[in-house]
Amino acid sequence: MIVKNRDRGQYTFANINLLGRCNADCYFCLGKDIEDELRDKNQLNVHFSEWKNFRNFLNRCMDEGASKLYLTGQTADGLQYRYLSELVDALQADNFSVGVRTNGYLALRKMKTIQRMRGEIGYSIHTLDPQTNKFIMGRSDIPKWDEIIPQSGHNVRVSIVLNRYNIGQFYDLCGYIAQFPNVRYIQVRRISTDTRESLLMEDIKLYEEFFRDFEKTHRQIGDFHRAQQFKLFGKEVVFWRTVETSVNSLNYFTDGTCSDEYFIVEGYLKNRIPN
Ligand code: SF4
Repeated sequence: MIVKNRDRGQYTFANINLLGRCNADCYFCLGKDIEDELRDKNQLNVHFSEWKNFRNFLNRCMDEGASKLYLTGQTADGLQYRYLSELVDALQADNFSVGVRTNGYLALRKMKTIQRMRGEIGYSIHTLDPQTNKFIMGRSDIPKWDEIIPQSGHNVRVSIVLNRYNIGQFYDLCGYIAQFPNVRYIQVRRISTDTRESLLMEDIKLYEEFFRDFEKTHRQIGDFHRAQQFKLFGKEVVFWRTVETSVNSLNYFTDGTCSDEYFIVEGYLKNRIPN
């Protein structure tokens, strides 16, 4: 049984959760928790001026002082949005800083827009091995990280979702990522789920076993909202369990659903608006 930490701090950021059809198919994707709910939702080609409740949501963010916005997705990737460039410029003209959470497949095509973002650029890199990537993300091509990362500015974070397929590659992967000076830190995420615990418990247990061994041989250097920080290959590495951290965010879903809850699936189900 996974226990959620509901003792959350002030809102410091907000997510814009794009709904659509992702260009990858990760087996642990949080969107799969509510696949039936989200299946027909797709605003990837809808101009943001037509997104329901979007202006109200932005006003709420301003009122709460949540000036950092992240383009992300539950069934889509942050870079898939057709009007991405225009959206970033409009939000930043409103004094928000915009960042993105992305699998990187469209990064080279959208690089000019990425370079204009004032917020953190979050890339997910789970493996460099094509076969492993096929198991994890449903496709065997790997984004050209050697080209993507150096062009992506000075505020880059890389997330690794540690799972049954890549756990043996952890050190090699961190060593690779650590060579990029503009990567500020590596986030090692535990799989998060609200509805598929039995299916994903194997990964969650592996993560915790790995962590227990890791902390025996590495000295913790700090704590970021209850996530343990270490140094590895000269780079900060933080072990991130979404349910345990104390950060807080507002959430907007492009079908018009607005949620005050950090927990994505729970927040969506409580607040979803009818079609
Ligand atoms: S890249 Fe993200 S949104 Fe796409 S399938 Fe993977 S976890 Fe889901």
